[in-house]
Amino acid sequence: MTRNIGLSVPVPATECDDPNCPFHGTLPVRGQTLDGVVISSRMGKTVVVERSYEKKVFKYERYEKRRSRIHAHNPPCINAKEGDVVKIAECRPISKTKSFVVVARA
Ligand SMILES: [Zn+2]
Repeated sequence: MTRNIGLSVPVPATECDDPNCPFHGTLPVRGQTLDGVVISSRMGKTVVVERSYEKKVFKYERYEKRRSRIHAHNPPCINAKEGDVVKIAECRPISKTKSFVVVARA
């Protein structure tokens, strides 16, 4: 059984029994959705997603590169690996540092 998570993302091909999976568990997603690259998948069900963006510096009328790293829950049915481009969605806090979940692999 797969739930509709309210985002236009493909449903994972495999099923899992993770309660913190938005498709097969009971985790609601709401808030921001962001795109990024997985830079670490060594933790059990957590990946580190890095995002780069440009911020305007008004004094010099130029843009500076910035990046941020976000810890995100990686459900077994999606199983994102290092180097994957992923879409993450905001959810309730799953642990001290995790309040995003991977919802799709690009
Ligand atoms: Zn799942």
